[in-house]
Amino acid sequence: MTSAPAISSISGKTRLIGLFGSPVDHSRSPVMQNSTFEAMGLDYVYLAFDVGGDHVEEAVSALRALNMRGANVTMPLKRAIIPHLDALSEAAELAGAVNVIVNDEGKLTGQISDGEGFMLSLRDAGHDVVGQRMVILGAGGAAIAVAVQAALDGVSEIVLFNRRDAFFEEARGLIERLQQRDLPIRLADLEDHALLAEAIRDADILVNATPVGMEGSLSKTALPDLELLRAELLVCDLIYVPRETRLLREAAARGCRTVPGTGMQLWQAAPAFRLWTGVDMDMTVARQALY
Ligand code: NAD
Repeated sequence: MTSAPAISSISGKTRLIGLFGSPVDHSRSPVMQNSTFEAMGLDYVYLAFDVGGDHVEEAVSALRALNMRGANVTMPLKRAIIPHLDALSEAAELAGAVNVIVNDEGKLTGQISDGEGFMLSLRDAGHDVVGQRMVILGAGGAAIAVAVQAALDGVSEIVLFNRRDAFFEEARGLIERLQQRDLPIRLADLEDHALLAEAIRDADILVNATPVGMEGSLSKTALPDLELLRAELLVCDLIYVPRETRLLREAAARGCRTVPGTGMQLWQAAPAFRLWTGVDMDMTVARQALY
């Protein structure tokens, strides 16, 4: 059951929180955040605004001028918005991306909750990955956010495998910077099957952070050889539609524990909620609203 925001309880004191990006009309964040504000009796309202790259500066000015409490930021603004903010959290600075803005009396701080959401979803599913080794398929925005947070949380070794496309080149510079900050993150070529096989053999966690397995490629996986799936592996997919991708199905059939991307989709909302309101999000309400 999802509930609509209680319009009648909006007052002169209600604080506005936005979602900036394009497109945003499919987003589940407004229903999830508003249902939770209402259930918890918190005086906030969350609205999505379709903002493309051409209007990023004006959107940030509006956030200041209207004294909004903050915003979520989605594609295509996650990187482009950074020069317009006053400060960044450590994870946002390392990942070079922002998906949460907090407005503290005119000071705008950019944060990133995607990686935190992923790590919280593992904990929620009962998996402690501190000290373990992780292989990530992909090196795009989500992969980098997950890798940075995993490293900050104590995952001991992270290898991102990407095909030799534009993402590979972009990730190379970023990962060199992370290595200079002593984060245990490496980049490798997804076409190097011997290296991939070796890394997965030594890994505890395998994460798909590519779109392979979504609508249009439902029967595919980014993993070139499914025989690399060993029963000891924890296999995660960041894709949340469908909930069970082919990778997760094949992994479960081989005895692996699996975590779908729906957990990250839910849990990335929690750190943002806490930053804006100062209290913990009621995850039972948020979960009901999301699904
Ligand atoms: P992105 O466009 O920034 O990166 C895409 C990555 O996938 C790149 O590394 C690219 O090289 C790789 N890739 C694309 N097609 C490929 C193919 N055919 N074979 C191998 N590699 C391929 O995208 P993103 O924002 O990082 O998102 C990646 C996935 O994560 C998407 O499916 C997205 O829906 C999902 N995601 C989920 C959540 C969540 O809350 N669960 C949050 C963010 C992203």
